Amino acid sequence: MIDWEKIDTVLLDMDGTLLDLNFDNHFWLEFVPLKFAEKQGLSIEIAKQQLEPRFRSMEGKLEWYCLDYWSEVLELDIAGLKAEISGLIAILPHVTEFLEKIQRSPKKVYLVTNAHRGSLGLKMNKTCLQPFFDGIISSHDLGSPKEHADFWRLLQQRVPFEKQTALLIDDSLAVLHAAKQFGIAHLISVSRPDTQQPKKHITAYPAIEDFRELMMGL
Ligand SMILES: [Mg+2]
Repeated sequence: MIDWEKIDTVLLDMDGTLLDLNFDNHFWLEFVPLKFAEKQGLSIEIAKQQLEPRFRSMEGKLEWYCLDYWSEVLELDIAGLKAEISGLIAILPHVTEFLEKIQRSPKKVYLVTNAHRGSLGLKMNKTCLQPFFDGIISSHDLGSPKEHADFWRLLQQRVPFEKQTALLIDDSLAVLHAAKQFGIAHLISVSRPDTQQPKKHITAYPAIEDFRELMMGL
């Protein structure tokens, strides 16, 4: 699937790529509606109906990933709620083996995420993955989400890499499209970002179900 000799820089997404998206899905689709319902005195069904369009309208925007934004508009302590169910944060199968292997290679590895610093810190504390990376970049630091070309231009100023020898692995097709438009040559998607959901059928990019598929030749 990938010729590792052609890759100098590996850019890795966090949620749905390295970490099980089940945490985030459960958090936003079940736990937040539950807490919102309690706070507003609504049924859980009505809370879900009210929240769904509000979440959808923010998709792909930086605020969508901003804990402070949602804490303010929903009047809930989003960071605190995340910590409450942090036991659900889990590394996807074979990710650690992959990171160990790549750490022993001369390639540079960066975590590039839309996650807010608060959420990122919680997840790094829980998973202890931080030492595997040469750098961790949150789109909140750059002021533009990964779905926008600006993010990739600003990232390249922050961490020098060649588009031709860079590989991005990300479960978001919108992010992969933006990276492709910017010119990143090697792009891989993830077909099983949430272990509690069925495998997705992806045709736009080569897709891995888990990281074993990328370990040959590394
Ligand atoms: Mg993701």
